[in-house]
Amino acid sequence: MSRVVVIGAGLGGLGAALRLQGMGHDVTVLESRAKPGGRAYQLRDAGFTWDTGPSLITMPWVLEETFAAGGMDLHREVEMVELDPFYRIRWTGEERHLDFTADREHMRAELGRFSARDAAAFDGFLAALKPIYEQGILDAGRRAFLRARDLAAFAPAMVRLGAAQPLWRLVCRHFEHPRVREAFSFHSLFIGGNPFRVPAIYGALVYLQFLDRVWYSRGGVYAVVEAMARGLDVRCEARVERIETRGARVTGVITAGGEHVPADVVVSNADVLRTHELLGRSAPVRSPRATMSCLLLYLGTDRVFGELRHHTLLVGGGYRRFIADVTRRGRLARTFSTYLHAPARTDPGMAPPGGDSIAALLPVPNLRGRVDWAREAGGVRDALMADLESTFGLEGLAASVRVEHRMSPLDFESQLGAKWGNAFATEPVLHQSAWLRQHNRHGSVGGLYFVGGGTHPGAGIPGVLLGAEITAGLVAGDVGRQRAPVALA
Ligand SMILES: Cc1cc2nc3c(=O)[nH]c(=O)nc-3n(C[C@H](O)[C@H](O)[C@H](O)COP(=O)(O)OP(=O)(O)OC[C@H]3O[C@@H](n4cnc5c(N)ncnc54)[C@H](O)[C@@H]3O)c2cc1C
Repeated sequence: MSRVVVIGAGLGGLGAALRLQGMGHDVTVLESRAKPGGRAYQLRDAGFTWDTGPSLITMPWVLEETFAAGGMDLHREVEMVELDPFYRIRWTGEERHLDFTADREHMRAELGRFSARDAAAFDGFLAALKPIYEQGILDAGRRAFLRARDLAAFAPAMVRLGAAQPLWRLVCRHFEHPRVREAFSFHSLFIGGNPFRVPAIYGALVYLQFLDRVWYSRGGVYAVVEAMARGLDVRCEARVERIETRGARVTGVITAGGEHVPADVVVSNADVLRTHELLGRSAPVRSPRATMSCLLLYLGTDRVFGELRHHTLLVGGGYRRFIADVTRRGRLARTFSTYLHAPARTDPGMAPPGGDSIAALLPVPNLRGRVDWAREAGGVRDALMADLESTFGLEGLAASVRVEHRMSPLDFESQLGAKWGNAFATEPVLHQSAWLRQHNRHGSVGGLYFVGGGTHPGAGIPGVLLGAEITAGLVAGDVGRQRAPVALA
């Protein structure tokens, strides 16, 4: 049995901790904040409850497997509710909306309201994504890419399947209507990917929704976090300042309070862009590129907004320019494309009777961009609220707000230790994926491993939990090898 310290109680950290504890290791999770969850945090105020980050659950079997590996049954701990439609997409100035729905015939009818040709192309698009999902996510997302030859063996199949080309190009090959193209490519935004730049492998995010559906956990994603943390020794308000090493091996960590916690294995769920700081080393010459950030508003209203579905995506004008502004150009966009989470229509406990608990997510540049958030956050908030009212018909929204909280890129940096206030860790682009992403095991420090959105396979609830499986597997293999009896010659 090894002494394992996990730095950070994000979903990836908790997933790795559950798996390692399930293998019999002695696991302690050290978390700098007051509660576990990381980006999957929870806010409560005046009877309103908000998930601060992730809200849409896909690949529920990944959660089931993670719980089972830790000796728990997901469905005993958390009530999982299937959502249909998955979400609604609306566009500025258009009456039409598009509901993503599990029923394929219904989905074709939805698409047919935009283009009969696109409705007919839907099945072909899913068929093209099937092998990309199976090889690019199911297979590659569950194995470590530690050597260049792992990538060399994987890449040809991806090129053959068209998974290495930009997602936007793949989508355009199948669909003609601009709205339909937007609808089938926005998904990567929720793991920080620019739909015009991410490889088509991220198209699999669409496929897996039709395969395994979209889910909600009653009480919010935080109900999942709480259940995971219940089975573990999680010490909150224990920020790790330093990973200690002797020779080229970890020996433990030092917390901000000066406590030395010894460990044979350290799994870091902290931002991988900050690993050098924890090791007391200088910054690498070329650091990976971080994703965009978000401005999040958590609104508790005194009325229900019937126009909203559980998940609603509101796409503003100039979508392509919007994405370029908040990613490459590092400036505030002139239009707003926003995602709203309004869970009380599924789970009345999330808001007081007659009220709505709404989280609004606006992608914005990270702190490398040209925005002074300390000065400008209030103005951006007001402009977003006005836009939601005037462009998307949520009339009276501002006046209905009884309580409100906000999270800006500055909070991502100060509360989560996210480099440049990134919302989704390292940007998912081809040259920062698989072997080219932070490996799940450190290259030169023995006993040091990584888990979370910045590592392989990447961000998102299933992404970090699949990563936890890879990382726990590496630890198990390495510890086993160290213990294996030395063969006598
Ligand atoms: C606004 C938003 C919406 C999202 N929506 C979705 C969605 O709908 N569906 C989906 O699947 N994914 C979504 N995602 C992505 C998903 O939430 C993340 O990829 C995932 O939760 C990240 O988990 P992680 O393991 O990387 O840990 P993180 O959440 O990054 O947590 C890391 C933890 O480590 C702690 N920590 C850092 N440094 C230290 C230190 N030195 N010592 C101790 N503790 C430390 C931090 O405090 C934090 O608690 C969303 C993300 C955001 C931001």
